[in-house]
Amino acid sequence: MAMMNGAQYLASLQDGRRIFAEGEEIKVLAEHPQFAKSLRLVAEGYDAHYQPGADASGPYFKIPRSKEQLKELLTELMEWDMVTVTTSQGLLALLTAAARMREDLPEYAERIERYFAYCQENDLRCVQAITDAKGDRKFSPGKQSDEDSYTHIVERREDGIVIRGAKLHISSAAVSHELVVMPTKAMKEGEEQYAVACAIPVNAPGVKIVNTSYAPRERIEDFPASSEHNMPEGFIILDDVFVPNERIFLAGETKHSPTFAHALGLWERLGGTAHMAEFGDTLVGLAQLIAEANGTEKIVHIKEKIAEMVIYSTLVRSGLEAAIANAAPSPEGWYFPSELYTNAAKHYAASEYGLMTRHLHDIGGGSIVTAPSIADLENEEVGPAIRKYMSGKDGIDGEYRLRLFHAIRDFTADAYGGWQLVTMIQSGGGLYAQRIVARKHYDMENAKALGRKLAGLA
Ligand SMILES: Cc1cc2nc3c(=O)[nH]c(=O)nc-3n(C[C@H](O)[C@H](O)[C@H](O)COP(=O)(O)OP(=O)(O)OC[C@H]3O[C@@H](n4cnc5c(N)ncnc54)[C@H](O)[C@@H]3O)c2cc1C
Repeated sequence: MAMMNGAQYLASLQDGRRIFAEGEEIKVLAEHPQFAKSLRLVAEGYDAHYQPGADASGPYFKIPRSKEQLKELLTELMEWDMVTVTTSQGLLALLTAAARMREDLPEYAERIERYFAYCQENDLRCVQAITDAKGDRKFSPGKQSDEDSYTHIVERREDGIVIRGAKLHISSAAVSHELVVMPTKAMKEGEEQYAVACAIPVNAPGVKIVNTSYAPRERIEDFPASSEHNMPEGFIILDDVFVPNERIFLAGETKHSPTFAHALGLWERLGGTAHMAEFGDTLVGLAQLIAEANGTEKIVHIKEKIAEMVIYSTLVRSGLEAAIANAAPSPEGWYFPSELYTNAAKHYAASEYGLMTRHLHDIGGGSIVTAPSIADLENEEVGPAIRKYMSGKDGIDGEYRLRLFHAIRDFTADAYGGWQLVTMIQSGGGLYAQRIVARKHYDMENAKALGRKLAGLA
């Protein structure tokens, strides 16, 4: 086995997979405008990492064995395309689950390790398919009127299981090779059929993926962020999909259902926080640049808002540093970030992100959403007037300011910006999920002891 280059990756997707978008089935992904850019990004990632030789493998298959390696991984992660990031996070989450259940279920832990090696040897890309349709949220899986609301086992055979259900919002599924399926949450006694984790090839019979994307269909000059960074989001239908034994990692053992959800949450939230630290700095940069272009950079309330944004991105970065500084090894010597700091940092970063974009919009002004397009600027008749009236303080050219407004709109205010706002909150599980985990790992006894001491209680 060997690594794939970009062309081999593109060819590997012609495997009979069933992909849908905007009402139609798509036979050749590379020819469809909604997927072309995403495919190019992933193919470029393959080309960038490609090394010849049977033993070569990508850095995204490295398992961190020290805090330093964990830190390096996070730095590398920021350079990779989304699919490579989900591959690394998803497989590390699987290994985390393996480490945590090895004592109870050693056969599953070994299968996970063999699966990891299989993906590494074949240079495959994997996505994390955890979020179920969930039906009526007030009822648990076993109490839903439609038993398919949560992915479940419908048949057990000697050679494997058959599963049915749906996994929603699965980033990049259509352009990957493997779906790493995990239970969305803890399952209770009586809900054994829902405690299922496994790996399914995207082209397995019974898998259909319906896609959405914020990828702009208009001129890319006006969409500097979203035209360069887009991936399809997949609504995955699992219609009686057969999973052979060697690809099953949990099949009824309810005790370890949350093991998977927590393991995936940990790695997704760590990666999400790393991205939010970078996005925080980007928001600061945009705010400072547009304030300077508008001539407002010395006004007190503008400086205060930018200072708040600086504190935000610095604290998000500190949370990330603390998650790594407090990382601990598993018995296998694999390093996992701190649950407490990862979840607290992700919660803070996500919940305050909306306020940071509000500051940016407040500082920037209405042209964020009303600035004429770059094409209008190029129009012989109205272009010169647009350049003239879009110029801000002396020395700031109209086009410079226009481009800043388009960057702010695209990054924070319309399709991609809206996607970011929702994604910050929901990806890696909603804020509620981070509150549960942070509370679980916090040293409450120490806090209570401090409270008692202050109150003079023994
Ligand atoms: C862009 C994007 C990419 C994503 N990528 C992936 C991915 O690659 N893989 C993946 O598996 N998932 C992915 N997700 C899914 C994400 O994890 C979910 O959106 C999130 O867990 C919330 O689930 P939901 O969207 O079904 O909303 P809901 O479950 O309906 O939740 C909505 C709100 O209600 C609250 N809530 C719901 N039920 C309860 C309850 N019983 N008790 C208390 N509060 C409750 C939630 O906390 C939340 O605040 C992605 C989401 C987005 C937006």
